Amino acid sequence: MMAQASPDFKPKPDAATLAAEDPVLELRKYPDPVLMAPAQPVTEFGPALKRLVADMFETMYQERGVGLAAPQVGVSQRILVLNCAEKQPPEGELALINPEIVATEGEQYGDEGCLSFPGMYAKKRRPRKVTMRAQNTEGEWFEVTGEGLLARALVHELDHLNGRVFVQDLELVEFIKLRKELEQMKREWKREHARAR
Ligand SMILES: [Zn+2]
Repeated sequence: MMAQASPDFKPKPDAATLAAEDPVLELRKYPDPVLMAPAQPVTEFGPALKRLVADMFETMYQERGVGLAAPQVGVSQRILVLNCAEKQPPEGELALINPEIVATEGEQYGDEGCLSFPGMYAKKRRPRKVTMRAQNTEGEWFEVTGEGLLARALVHELDHLNGRVFVQDLELVEFIKLRKELEQMKREWKREHARAR
């Protein structure tokens, strides 16, 4: 997710800084089919998982995101990384393996963005407070409760694991605002993949 009001992103740095940084993992953009597929549970808690989680954090920071789900880097597994803290990492880092919602409370309504939809934002209703349980990279279960931005980020990222993206279930007026850009993204994606074949 984006910026302080939204889930996947923080503001991007200038173009020169970005050009100097190659993301560790390739970010998948809408409408890549991996984003629309339900992700598989993680069963192996070995070094490969820890490496993937570390690479996902690095990719998320490079893209100025506050959350990233494994399908967004082409891995259809139930893995999320988040960091909504305004502090120096690793402070605030959360890695959730096989996450599930335990409880939700209240409601918030505000702008949301997604690293797989660069530059696009829409207003979306989300719970104000969310508690999830998940495994850490050792396979141990823990609970995390988030409010505000973290709650929004948690449910946004969990949606990714269920093959859902933030432009689904928008209010009509919000969807209409994004419709042209979504069509444009579909055309670009088709063009790029026609070249690859
Ligand atoms: Zn997203």
